[in-house]
Amino acid sequence: MHTNVEQIFTFIDQESTFIEEQQSATYLEGVVYALELWLEEKKVPTVYNPDKEQIRKAVQLAILKGMKKSAQVNHQMTPDAIGLLVSYFVKEMAKGKKELSILDPALGTGNLLYTIMNAIPTENYAFGVEIDELLIQLAAQTGELLTHDVQLFRQDALKPLLIDPVDIVVSDLPVGFYPDEETAQDYFLQSKDEMSYAHHLFMEQSMKHVKPGGYLYFLVPATIFETKQAAQLHKFIKEQGWIQAVIQFPSSIFKTKGQEKSLLILQKKSEALKAPREVLLAKVPNMSNKEAMELFFQKIDIWQEENSK
Ligand code: SAM
Repeated sequence: MHTNVEQIFTFIDQESTFIEEQQSATYLEGVVYALELWLEEKKVPTVYNPDKEQIRKAVQLAILKGMKKSAQVNHQMTPDAIGLLVSYFVKEMAKGKKELSILDPALGTGNLLYTIMNAIPTENYAFGVEIDELLIQLAAQTGELLTHDVQLFRQDALKPLLIDPVDIVVSDLPVGFYPDEETAQDYFLQSKDEMSYAHHLFMEQSMKHVKPGGYLYFLVPATIFETKQAAQLHKFIKEQGWIQAVIQFPSSIFKTKGQEKSLLILQKKSEALKAPREVLLAKVPNMSNKEAMELFFQKIDIWQEENSK
């Protein structure tokens, strides 16, 4: 007996491999073709009533297979180990909310955004911005298959965005220097001495597009506060928001030390709110250690309860 995830993956994989072999296209372009067939009901996987997580996981497996063959580091999809943990925080902090608007300004394949949208019980709708044509196409098709309410924009997210402020921003930020120095000049976080960091500018752009009191969940380089441009970043965060938490992921989930990331949770300042009582600084234990993970989640729950008093 094959599971729904296996059946869907096999369907996408067969169609993608066929395209890859026949039409000198890449496997990822084949995935776009396979999803198109499915959406237009020209060919569909033989599954009974798949749920949203099954569809997301199967599409994710196919995209991962395609990315192994081609993707650059900065285009890589956010892995589930990280996405599921971010959803846990979003769920905890969104308790009591009826509706949630979400923005991911570096949407990629949409895997992180959809992991969160699938996990939160709240009614939600989202905006995604992505510069890469193939990735945004995959994100649009997956969003449609999952019947999520999403509006996507293919553009440089650091140029002006026609998106009203949202409740939360969630993003696995592209890391490195931002080449468009003219656009960088519009940002407080531009660097005068060297090229500006894209991930810093993304944080500023996100802060602009979140409502006062709204939360921002960023996956950032683990060394973000250790660079030459960090002092300016600190100043910016202090002026505009509050650091809620810095969560370090275990090194084992990253291929190299340089790729290690942390989850930085910020809140945009609001006159109606107070700064958090305590900033949560935590290290995620080895994720296969069940007991340690339970303790970690307990720690988060206690922090969250204290913080929301
Ligand atoms: N969370 C995504 C997922 O699950 O697929 C992965 C995000 S990936 C780490 C960062 C993304 O930012 C890449 O897809 C890259 O193309 C996009 N990006 C880089 N610079 C950008 C820009 N200036 N504007 C919009 N998107 C950009």
